Amino acid sequence: MAASTLRILRSSSRLTSVFSPAYQCRHLSLQEYQSKQLMQDYGINIQRFQIVENKGDVDKAVQGLNKQCGKVNEYVIKAQILAGGRGKGHFKESGLKGGVKLTKDSKQVADFVSKMLGYKLVTHQTPEDGVKVQRVMIAEALDIAKETYLAFLMARQKDHEGPICVYSPKGGVDIEQVSEESPEAIFTSFIDIDSGLSAEEAMKIAKKLEFEPQYLEEAKNQIMKLYNLFLKVDATQVEVNPFGQTPDGRIVCFDAKLSFDDNAQYRQEKIFQMGDTMESDPREVDAGKHNLNYIGLDGNIGCLVNGAGLAMATMDLIKLHGGEPANFLDVGGNVKENQVQEAFRILSADRKVKAILVNIFGGIVNCATIANGIINACRNIKLSIPLVVRLEGTNADEARRLLKDSNLPITAADSLEDAARKAVECLKK
Ligand code: GDP
Ligand code: MG
Repeated sequence: MAASTLRILRSSSRLTSVFSPAYQCRHLSLQEYQSKQLMQDYGINIQRFQIVENKGDVDKAVQGLNKQCGKVNEYVIKAQILAGGRGKGHFKESGLKGGVKLTKDSKQVADFVSKMLGYKLVTHQTPEDGVKVQRVMIAEALDIAKETYLAFLMARQKDHEGPICVYSPKGGVDIEQVSEESPEAIFTSFIDIDSGLSAEEAMKIAKKLEFEPQYLEEAKNQIMKLYNLFLKVDATQVEVNPFGQTPDGRIVCFDAKLSFDDNAQYRQEKIFQMGDTMESDPREVDAGKHNLNYIGLDGNIGCLVNGAGLAMATMDLIKLHGGEPANFLDVGGNVKENQVQEAFRILSADRKVKAILVNIFGGIVNCATIANGIINACRNIKLSIPLVVRLEGTNADEARRLLKDSNLPITAADSLEDAARKAVECLKK
């Protein structure tokens, strides 16, 4: 599973990932403010907001917001990270409780922002250490009379492959908690992608969300607009929690989480350009630049393998012999010598990596190309950790000879299992 997929699974509620398990597919996710910009373009109601990246910009943002809204009565300050559960999260270093704060005092806005920007926010969906906040949203807070949950998802179920709407009148809170405590309060509508979401179905959803009768029509319209957005932007998920109603009858998306099908990148260029790599594993970003499939893991044996199947088998065998892989690195079938060097650079720059295991089966790839890449990489980066190499297939004899003649301290292995065992053993010495 790709690292960005792992990230998505963390940032989507478990509930939504039940309907669209992310098999081998990558999904771009946008930050809340970016998602809301898109929503606005599609006529969906959101709160007006400003974004700050520096503490010094708060006053200007507050003034800008007051200009946009007339006079802001209350502000909501929201840390922008991809994970959910921000409201109930906390900042370990600055001590601030909550990644979503409300205040009527414009002077307090700067105080909240200064305790969010640059600090790591920990929520139940982030890694233990949290995620560093690089942007903060300052929005006009609105009173909420009713909080509901609404999500459109692309489902991959046997009996329904296509869009679904998952919704609950019990919104605002953690939807997983609702699904555990009162599963009867969560509803699903299956949508035919050809005929789309009918006005009748959208009205049924609005009624089940228990909006007040005089606001049902507006809720129905917003639901249809959200479905339209979902389809037009090739989303895999449009999750709004809370999908709320103000006391004066406005239906507003108070939060927004959008993810997109990476296969649609070619026709959603603008959206994909909005995606940033700030929250991605830097090793993965680096590898991506050299067309290497890299996923960081927690162990200490760096693996360089060609083909996803062989990479999985290699990781399994390392574990079987008591070791832990530090990564999944598939150099692919068409690998060039310089890519092997880049792969070595990425692996050896990772301080957690204490040994490297190369496991190549040369089908399309010529083993001698790999061998030359290894030799040059070892010399250029002055590799100082143990290296175990197993090369099999096309031109393997020549490759073995090149490695031997190089006089580099490389441990040769003659089978997949032998390679895994030797890599684990060299760490025991
Ligand atoms: P999350 O915790 O990451 O899901 O972030 P949300 O954007 O959903 O905010 C957390 C909670 O803060 C929401 O469920 C709301 O209850 C509350 N909240 C957010 N914006 C507003 C607002 O404008 N007014 C009020 N009264 N509450 C808000
Ligand atoms: Mg929310």
